[in-house]
Amino acid sequence: MNDDFVKRWVRPEIGAMHAYAVADATGMVKLDAMENPYAWPPALREDWSRLLQGTDVNRYPDPRAGELTRVLRDAMQVPPGAEVLLGNGSDEIIQMLAMTLGGPGRTLVSVDPGFVMYRLIAAFTGMAYHGVALDGSDFGLDADALLQAIRETEPALVFLAYPNNPTGNLFDAGLIEQVIESAPGLVVIDEAYAPFTDASFMPRVDEFANLAVMRTLSKMGLAGLRLGLLAGRPSLIREVDKTRLPYNINTLTQRSASFALEHLEIFDAQTGTIRHDRELLYGALAEIDGITPYPSAANFILFRCPAGRGPGIFEGLKQRNVLIKNLDGSHALLRDCLRVTVGTPQENDRFQQALKETLAGT
Ligand SMILES: *Cc1c(COP(=O)(O)O)cnc(C)c1O
Repeated sequence: MNDDFVKRWVRPEIGAMHAYAVADATGMVKLDAMENPYAWPPALREDWSRLLQGTDVNRYPDPRAGELTRVLRDAMQVPPGAEVLLGNGSDEIIQMLAMTLGGPGRTLVSVDPGFVMYRLIAAFTGMAYHGVALDGSDFGLDADALLQAIRETEPALVFLAYPNNPTGNLFDAGLIEQVIESAPGLVVIDEAYAPFTDASFMPRVDEFANLAVMRTLSKMGLAGLRLGLLAGRPSLIREVDKTRLPYNINTLTQRSASFALEHLEIFDAQTGTIRHDRELLYGALAEIDGITPYPSAANFILFRCPAGRGPGIFEGLKQRNVLIKNLDGSHALLRDCLRVTVGTPQENDRFQQALKETLAGT
């Protein structure tokens, strides 16, 4: 058997891609993926195990995830006039949006550097991707360029992460409003990092027909469950829901997430600690000679290393068993930039120690 059919039949745009790579973190201090570093308290684990023991998996899940949807609306303070749709992670929601509003001849606009899944999913679904460069000085929106791109490409979809990944900053809310008002298609505000900031468009989601707000439980501390949410006007959500695969939220996720959200105060305390430690880590990085951290409203910090040294420092950290994210080479504005997730105080110390050793070449 030969594999000629692969060359002949796999769509060229897929053939030209690389699979989404996840670094092996075995035995490392893992600060690469914006996970919450805190496990559940023992008493909570006990109650959870008991709940799962009483859960049957021989039947399909609740197709509408009714109970979970109620708990989620409450936890995320979705306005009563808005409808919600759940996804197997918010990545799946991006995919559903692209299947609903995208396709050949349609354009997705976002900003670069930004979240890579927008570009990838545009390619999967045959959409054109148009990335508008951020302002190089502070990673803010380049309003003129963005509004011009919207005028010229008439995008079916605009995605803005708020706060932005991988830069960590919040864009100007007034400019985002201008984007919503001038975009002909849907504007999605991706609030994956909502637990780490007070800023949000959720209270205003029913104010504009072409606005939707996306959230995820991943960064809050439930990355393993894979659960995301889209809020928007009912007329929009009804259409997107048609592209949702049946039973996309499995029974264990439905039960576990409902249970976890009934103990929201535990996660609020954890994310509160992370917010506090983010400021300590930012201050510590700013003190290190040659390191320039950028202000963050998320659970990670982007920082720039001395010219030409970013990739070497990333490797040096890895040799010292600290895994972060190397962004050098991913965009012209991110030369020598690395991104570190805020971990526990001990992990943050290990990272700082390893960074200082690497810089000193010891
Ligand atoms: C992490 C992240 C997501 C993906 O979240 P999942 O719900 O885990 O799929 C979406 N958007 C941004 C900006 C992110 O950083």
